[in-house]
Amino acid sequence: MVKPNGNADLWMPCGHDKAAEYLYRDHDGTVLYGVARCRLKGNGCQGFQQWRPDPSERSGRRWSLYGDDGRLAVKLVPYRLPELLAAIREERVVMICESTSRVLTSLSSRTATSPAASTPRRL
Ligand SMILES: [Zn+2]
Repeated sequence: MVKPNGNADLWMPCGHDKAAEYLYRDHDGTVLYGVARCRLKGNGCQGFQQWRPDPSERSGRRWSLYGDDGRLAVKLVPYRLPELLAAIREERVVMICESTSRVLTSLSSRTATSPAASTPRRL
């Protein structure tokens, strides 16, 4: 969450500070979309916001996974897809967790999460 200039990028559309950010990458490591978790939840805030890279935006991201036509504009992938593919190639045990944060607190590089656990919502 630290920009190249050293400033932390904590801004979220809900108005709360960002507490964590999870990047969903394609098989080659390209960021397809991200999920940001805010520090507060409730009072109309879902606690999570999704974004996708968009070079036409000043911030470089658009806070929606949907295009102007209302259709999903990204390919949904499991969290840590490159690591998941490597584990499959190496015939390692893979654990599928229910939430992204649990992937990070579980058995290190052997975990992924199902995209259904973080089904995008129209913002
Ligand atoms: Zn919030």
